[in-house]
Amino acid sequence: MLNQEAGSRGEQSPLMGEVSTKGEREKDQESFHPQRGAIASDQEASNPHSKVAFSLVSKLCLGMLLPFAMFSCTSLDSNPKTTGGDSKPRVVATSTIIADLAQKVGGDEIQLTGVLKPGTDPHVYEPVPADSRFLEEADLILYNGYNLEPGLIKLMKASGGKARQLAVGEVVKPLQLEKAKGEIVPDPHVWGSAENAIAMVNSIRDGLIELSPEDREKFTQKAAQLTKELTQLHSWINQQIQTIPADKRKLVTTHDAFQYYGRDYKIAIAGTLIGISTEEQPSAQTVKLLVESIKKIGVPAIFAETTINPALIKTVAQEAGVKLAPQQLYSDSIGAKGSNGDSYVKMMEANTRSIVEALGGRYTPFQLKK
Ligand SMILES: [Zn+2]
Repeated sequence: MLNQEAGSRGEQSPLMGEVSTKGEREKDQESFHPQRGAIASDQEASNPHSKVAFSLVSKLCLGMLLPFAMFSCTSLDSNPKTTGGDSKPRVVATSTIIADLAQKVGGDEIQLTGVLKPGTDPHVYEPVPADSRFLEEADLILYNGYNLEPGLIKLMKASGGKARQLAVGEVVKPLQLEKAKGEIVPDPHVWGSAENAIAMVNSIRDGLIELSPEDREKFTQKAAQLTKELTQLHSWINQQIQTIPADKRKLVTTHDAFQYYGRDYKIAIAGTLIGISTEEQPSAQTVKLLVESIKKIGVPAIFAETTINPALIKTVAQEAGVKLAPQQLYSDSIGAKGSNGDSYVKMMEANTRSIVEALGGRYTPFQLKK
């Protein structure tokens, strides 16, 4: 029996279902409830992936996805962004989301290095030699955890540095999902809810205070300001999603990064092309089932993501006869500097705008109240 948070297998959509026998497929399709609008419970929101059939991996899919993954890995040799002077405590953050939150809490009191560059997929990132040096020289390492960044976590665990290693994302109670071959894992995409991001900010604040107690007041004040902003963002997203007609409040994305968003903002995760980690590859059969299901559930648009090659989801949209939302979602990384998603708050705002506009809601900009 699965953990309750893993969702109800009986309610599962066929989109990511194991492609095994025709009989099982039909059974799955019968139990899929595409008309479901607003989500009644956590279980419904956390529509789990089940087993993606690796044996059926299409060469076409691989051909489309792998070049981008390789590009992501090889494009990271340039120096990660480091701020602050040499005398300040050295803080290393793995994901761009954590780096952004840490910079806002730490301000000028820390020397921050973000390992991943905006737009990089953390699931498949392969560390470069410079990363080892940053991790070894760090005074504090802030990482997401729940295996979001397996390459960097492995390197960090093996590094000889004395830095405290703080799994910022693991302060959030995880939703659980089933990977290929039935493995149950915690979902690492915890930042999908701004409320979870507040817990992450608290964790970063406490880690920084431990590192540099004399700056306690500054860290506390900055964290409080950010928390105020995130609290307002959380209410705003809730209000925005509710403007989408109930029967269109369904999200189809490239990979499964929006469970926490779906749960907290009451929009059903109606399908994903790739599982919890982009290491998984969709089979030709998964693609076919996704196309069929999109036709059935009647969503006006589906979504590409900034960290994943959009070629395959584009094909799915064309075959299903739906639009691909013009603005890609920022899933596992904030956007490049100057983009409309170049901070955590802006990425959440941009994602919400994209979802609301593509699914027929009424978008009004997020404005921070003093
Ligand atoms: Zn992801």
